[in-house]
Amino acid sequence: MKFTFVTLFSNLVEGYFQDSILKRAIDKDILKIQYLNPRDFSQNKHMKVDDTAVGGGAGMVMNPQPLYDALDFLKKEDEETYILFMTPVAKQFTQNDAKRLSKKSHIAFVSGRYEGIDERVIEEFADEVFSIGDYILTGGELASLVICDAVSRNIDGVLGNSDSLSVESFETPLLEAPAFSKPKNYKENAVPSEYLKGNHSKIRSLKLALSECKTQFFRPEQLLKHKIRTSYEK
Ligand code: SAH
Repeated sequence: MKFTFVTLFSNLVEGYFQDSILKRAIDKDILKIQYLNPRDFSQNKHMKVDDTAVGGGAGMVMNPQPLYDALDFLKKEDEETYILFMTPVAKQFTQNDAKRLSKKSHIAFVSGRYEGIDERVIEEFADEVFSIGDYILTGGELASLVICDAVSRNIDGVLGNSDSLSVESFETPLLEAPAFSKPKNYKENAVPSEYLKGNHSKIRSLKLALSECKTQFFRPEQLLKHKIRTSYEK
């Protein structure tokens, strides 16, 4: 899978791939990362990429020309490139999107800066637009990385143990049960005793009950939506 980050500030993105799981995936040739700076495509003599908003309004908007030419270049290089725009004005990205997008061969993430991107570029090139949540960031780079990371861990070979994918929160309507590591006792707090006794069916039912409690507390609407009766109600 190839990812292209279309950004004015690639150095904000690069560090994320220099360690841990995604670095290993790059070293194994499972992932390939490329950067494209719209400024390199600017036809303005000062290489400008933004201007004041037509029709008034505060702040600067990214001009259509540099981005249009950058994305045109990308599409000509690889017509399979699937182009995602980062914007707070969009559907919120979910785990289902992460799984679906992990089947693509090449995804480009377009990051806005300033007050955003000229809408005509989005209309022309967007395969999809995504928000990562109801708050405003200073730019799309973090949103691109969030989506790239979530998509990557669904690509075969990226995670050491792909079993961990199937039981995670959002893979089922229930949030994941709490996890514990060693030691069994830490600062006078013990791991739930059932986890220690090795009876896997009992551990499974306890984990299910704990998952239900977590979901009831943090996402009660999930239980209603999926008509789930918790084990303590049955
Ligand atoms: N004026 C815009 C916000 C622009 S923020 C508005 O009110 O809608 C600048 C850039 O940051 C955006 O173009 C987008 O690429 C990115 N961005 C900001 N918040 C985001 C979010 N919640 N999700 C995804 N991208 C976001």
